[in-house]
Amino acid sequence: MIKIDGKICPQNHRCPAIKVCPVNTISQEGYGLPKINNETCIECQKCIRFCPLGAIKFIEESI
Ligand code: SF4
Repeated sequence: MIKIDGKICPQNHRCPAIKVCPVNTISQEGYGLPKINNETCIECQKCIRFCPLGAIKFIEESI
């Protein structure tokens, strides 16, 4: 699953990755920590490549 690290994301700007998500599943209130809806995320990882600070990460799910 894709996660956004709140310790790396400075939460002081509009998240640029919102615009690149092909399924429009990243949301952000104001300049707050963006949220990814993992129900609709297709794990294309475009947002990971787009975040200049590397705050978005792919986490292997262990079941
Ligand atoms: S991995 Fe792809 S689908 Fe999922 S939030 Fe990032 S850009 Fe959107």
